[in-house]
Order: sequence, then structure tokens, then C-alpha cells
Amino acid sequence: MRSADIPANAGAILTVDLDAVAANWRLLAARAAPGADCAAMVKADAYGLGAEAVGPALARAGAGVFFVATLDEGIRLRHVLTEEIGVLEGPRPGTEDELRQRKLTPVLNSLDQLQRWRTTGGGRAVLHLDTGMSRLGLSEGEVSTLASEPDRLRGVDLAWIMSHLVSGEVQHDPDNPAQLGRFRDALAKLPPAKASLANSAGIFLGPAYHFDLVRPGAALYGLAPVDHAPNPMRTTVRLEAEILQVREIPSGRSVGYNAQWRANRPTRIATVGIGYADGYLRSLTNRGHGYIAGRPIPLVGRVSMDLVTFDVTDVPEDTSRPGTPVVLMGPELPPDELGRLAGTNGYQMLTGLSRRYARRYLGTGA
Ligand SMILES: *Cc1c(COP(=O)(O)O)cnc(C)c1O
Repeated sequence: MRSADIPANAGAILTVDLDAVAANWRLLAARAAPGADCAAMVKADAYGLGAEAVGPALARAGAGVFFVATLDEGIRLRHVLTEEIGVLEGPRPGTEDELRQRKLTPVLNSLDQLQRWRTTGGGRAVLHLDTGMSRLGLSEGEVSTLASEPDRLRGVDLAWIMSHLVSGEVQHDPDNPAQLGRFRDALAKLPPAKASLANSAGIFLGPAYHFDLVRPGAALYGLAPVDHAPNPMRTTVRLEAEILQVREIPSGRSVGYNAQWRANRPTRIATVGIGYADGYLRSLTNRGHGYIAGRPIPLVGRVSMDLVTFDVTDVPEDTSRPGTPVVLMGPELPPDELGRLAGTNGYQMLTGLSRRYARRYLGTGA
């Protein structure tokens, strides 16, 4: 990914490489067991990258099934996609007809949702079983009820029966085989249907976890699917902002709100136009770093709403002046690593990407 020209009307620019997203989907689809399709999770605006650009790029790459979290996300994506779109929240009361009208496939998370879907007209749906996450999905008791009263499924065309892994990214976590076992037991009780269990991490747990559909999100966008292992995914984003001003401060002078950093030598401070209002988390205070032409520069002082300050004393003056681009996220500093520095994860760094940046999309996914 080349450096972007930062437009003068925005503090920062986010470059999204749609070809890298598409390449990541192809890699995951190729890893899926023969016979298992590969969906694309594009909830939360495609993890912050922009679902209206990412969705069509993934469709061009070959994805035929998409999932979003909410009806609104589904409606927006339906404007740019003809492929199947699942809605993870399922039908909230009164939304059933709109889901059907827009050809959105609800994920039914309870007997109550199932009942409403059926009595309002039924049709294609996904059934979600809780096998350990304890958030959404039919409980074990509800699965037993359904197993003994299969008429509750009459009029419902079951696209998949799915569940979701608790700790898939931890390769030897005993929760993984335990959930797999519970999922298999539940499937054996219910009428035959296609099945889906694996998120990004689950794909790397092996073919036993793949069933008929894998559902990667994070790995599509370049996040590492497996903890403590090399990341096979391509970085998909590059976040850059310009130096707005450079100043020399004497030893002893503080930088930023509440004087959270103090110079211990004559120091050159570069101020950059990005802040926590952009999703550049305040917890990066005194912990983050940026890059100028491949060289790390330490973040010093508090991250403020629209501004952040870096110590550029050790960077040549002619490469650290107003207008110089600073890389804040990218191949040099992947979202996972920035998330670790911020005390969170790469998922939060990506989904927090603000709408204030200028955005630029590279490639088409084809
Ligand atoms: C978000 C989500 C996924 C994708 O998980 P990743 O860890 O991002 O790959 C898969 N399934 C469900 C139900 C999800 O909510």
C-alpha cells in the first residue's frame, strides 16, 4: 500500500485495500474443508472498513453469504448486494415482514423468535444454538423442546443451524472440543440441516469445525486468527495523518493535558491531526507510536480529542516537518499490535475507525 496524499480538509486518511480483503477471503475459503462454503461477516460496517465498499468486493471475490448484526445494517447492505444476507440479531418483534420483504435471512435465537417467524409467514432462516457463549441462541432446554416438538419448525426453511465459538483463537483451549461435542449432540437431535460453527479462528482449528459454512470476520480484515502464531492474513488498512506543527521545547517542559509527559532533553514535538474522537484510543497515551518513513516515533503525552503528539527528535528535520505523513496503523503497525498497546484488541481498533477520516479504497476485489 502506497502512502496516500492527505487531503487538506481532513486530519487523517484511511486507505482500505479491497484486493487484500478479497485475497484474505480467498485464502480462508481455500482453507475451508471441501464442501464448506465461506461466508463473510460484515457487521459493524465491515469491522469499520466500510460495508458498502467491502461487501461488493467480497462478492466479486466469490462470497455468496454475508452476515450483519442488525436489520439496519442489512437494509443498507441490501442496496449494494444481491447475495444472501443473514441478520444475527434475528427478528425483533414487528420486523418480520420487513426482513422478508428485503430478502434478509434472520438468525433465530430463541423459540420465541422462531415462533414469530413462523406465524408471520415463515421462510428461510438460520437457527442459532447456544453451546457455551451464553449470549444469543437456543438454550439446551429449548433444543430439547424443539427436538420433541419438531412441528415448531413447520414453514421454516432452515438454511443452517449455527453456533459460535467462545475461545477459538486459543488453539488448545478445552472449550473448543467441548463446544464441538455439544453442537454435534444438538444437531443429532434436530431435523437434518446444514451446519455452521467456525469464525475466523475456528477455520484454523481444523476441518472438524467447518461443517457446511465457515463465518470469518476478523481474518478478512487482516487480524490474526490464531493467538501466538504467525499471522497469514494480509494487512488491509493504512491510517495516516499529517504533521500539523512542529515545535522545539526545552528540557523540563511538559506536553499535553495534565502534563502526562515531560521532556528530559531539548525535544522536537510533532502534533498530528488525529485523536480519540477518531477511535485513536486515549489509552495510547504515552504508549503508542507512529512511523515516519519506516522509523518509529514515540507518542508522548495525552491523546486528546483531535490531536496527538509525537517525539520526533531522533528523526531528521527534513523528514519531520508540517505536511509529513505519519503512519498510525498499517503493515508497520498492524491493528492487533496497536490494540495491544492500547490495552484492547485489533477488533476494537478497526471497528472504532471514525467517519471523520478521509477514506480511499484501492482495488476492486475482482
Ligand atoms: C462476529 C461473528 C463471527 C466472526 O468472528 P471473527 O472472530 O471476527 O472471525 C462469526 N460468527 C458470529 C455469530 C459472529 O457474531
